[in-house]
Amino acid sequence: MKKHIALVPGDGIGPDIVAEAVKVLDSVGRKFGHTFTYETFLAGGCSIDAIGKPLAEETLAGCKASDSVLLGAVGGPKWDHMASELRPEKALLGLRSGMGLFCNLRPAILYGQLSGACPLKNEIIGEGLDIMVVRELTGGIYFGERGRDKDKAYDTMSYTVSEIERIVRKGYEIAQKRNKKMTSVDKANILNSSQLWREIVERLSPEYPDVVVNHLYVDNAAMQLVRNPRQFDVIVTENMFGDILSDEASQITGSIGMLPSASLRSDNFGMYEPIHGSAPDIAGQDIANPIATILSVAMMLRYSFAMEVEAKAIEEAVSKVLDAGYRTADIFTESMKKVGTKEMGDLVAQAL
Ligand code: NAD
Repeated sequence: MKKHIALVPGDGIGPDIVAEAVKVLDSVGRKFGHTFTYETFLAGGCSIDAIGKPLAEETLAGCKASDSVLLGAVGGPKWDHMASELRPEKALLGLRSGMGLFCNLRPAILYGQLSGACPLKNEIIGEGLDIMVVRELTGGIYFGERGRDKDKAYDTMSYTVSEIERIVRKGYEIAQKRNKKMTSVDKANILNSSQLWREIVERLSPEYPDVVVNHLYVDNAAMQLVRNPRQFDVIVTENMFGDILSDEASQITGSIGMLPSASLRSDNFGMYEPIHGSAPDIAGQDIANPIATILSVAMMLRYSFAMEVEAKAIEEAVSKVLDAGYRTADIFTESMKKVGTKEMGDLVAQAL
């Protein structure tokens, strides 16, 4: 297969980690007979420096014209003083909304080899953890009507039937490919939008008879994630609840440098990126962990290109390298072998 990928390295460690993910993609190409071509675009602080705004039309157009997008991270102290419409983060929102990416996938995987990094007790996490949070990305309170007067401020959580249907369907489809269990999280005891959400989850359930679905209120879900996280397979939820729960779930794994994410639309076109930020404190020093970005590429192969075997091969290669005791500084523990960003990329590419 031939695929053209837009690379948006961004700021800070972005260029360091994207380079390693490309190394791994090239290795997949050689092993499985695919051709990946690349085009690099500016976004975030580096774009502000170059053209005075965080997202150029050319970047959005180039990403839209590609088969898939790989993003590093944007932002840093250099641009923190900018007015809000000029901040680097605007590039992310512009890319997501400009490409119609409404479905955010945030896996929280605790690798057995890194179980020491988990802040929960061993008896709670057992053999490890593998949760997929499916978060609605373009609706809800972050995009609803808002306002502020002298002594009042408000934000509105609103959803249409079609907005809920398309994300709930994604949740069911992903559950079908995993352990066939989906937990829908809402606040249906209080919120109208949640009552509609729950009705739609129930209405669509007969179309996915192999998926067992249950409902949790968001406050209970937040509690259950630390009390008994192994009860979860797929969690599907609206934008703000998903924002909070996916961060909570990722913290359970204890290693921010290990977690990938995907933002998709219905045709499976997507943008893939690590969940961490641009880590300006370690940029350009060959110490950032590239695994989150490498695993983002595995998600790209699985969800956008339907290359399941290739995706699994990357995940197994990462596991092999961890088994062999190689660690970047952020996940390093005594008696392990410390490696830099480039060497970690080389090791995963070789393990393939
Ligand atoms: P951060 O994720 O960049 O860093 C938090 C801590 O984790 C730092 O100590 C950093 O060194 C470490 N870290 C992060 N990724 C790592 C990796 N791959 N390997 C090793 N260590 C890693 O979060 P922050 O410090 O809050 O934000 C820094 C900048 O990134 C800010 O400008 C913020 O706005 C931006 N940010 C961007 C995104 C994004 O582009 N999606 C997400 C979050 C934050």
